[in-house]
Amino acid sequence: MMASMLHIGLTGGIASGKTTACAYLQKQYGVAVVDADAITHRLLQHGQPECDQVLAAFGDAMATAAGDVDRAKLGELVFRDKAARQRLENILHPAILREIQFELGKLEAQGDTTVIVAAPLLLELGLEDLFPLVILLLVDTEMQKKRLLEQRKISAKEAKRRIQAQMDNRTRQNIKNCIKVFNNGTLKELYQRLDEVWQEIANRRVAKLPNPR
Ligand code: ATP
Repeated sequence: MMASMLHIGLTGGIASGKTTACAYLQKQYGVAVVDADAITHRLLQHGQPECDQVLAAFGDAMATAAGDVDRAKLGELVFRDKAARQRLENILHPAILREIQFELGKLEAQGDTTVIVAAPLLLELGLEDLFPLVILLLVDTEMQKKRLLEQRKISAKEAKRRIQAQMDNRTRQNIKNCIKVFNNGTLKELYQRLDEVWQEIANRRVAKLPNPR
């Protein structure tokens, strides 16, 4: 039997530092990353059945000239309209889950022993139980807003709306087996904390973590 692979979830609110944290852990520790956002982007590209389904549900006005789903436009709609968000999730969530499982299978066959699954909607997708450990990035709302405004071309009002559309930090912290990473400081501080977290995970591995599934 193959050595069991450790699946670590990684989640957090919008602009909480998920991408930054994954890139660091990947570079520093060579850990494989399955990125649910990248999967979603792929599913919304022309030629994918989910892209067709989304355009059928929301209209061809949601398509780019190339025939992909216009994610910016769709984002604007679903952050405003809860029912629309629900409809979108009904189409995408099962497909995202399927693709995550597929990528995990490939990595396992390749012999990877530790994989991070980065998913903004880990809790909303009900994926918590897939992971014996979850790294939870937390950031204060003001900092979140500041980073969003600096990095994305959206208005303060839109930033507020997007933050509010998400699960709040208090609810997130109820997640089982989570290791919290506060990302209100500098990048250097984030990386130091991630080193600590990685060490903690390594220690727990030695102490025989339960099998992920
Ligand atoms: P999203 O949910 O939108 O995908 P995310 O959680 O992946 O976002 P990142 O893209 O990693 O978040 O971070 C958001 C922005 O904040 C990026 O531009 C990133 O460079 C910046 N950032 C993240 N952490 C820090 C930090 N500690 N100090 C300064 N800037 C940071």
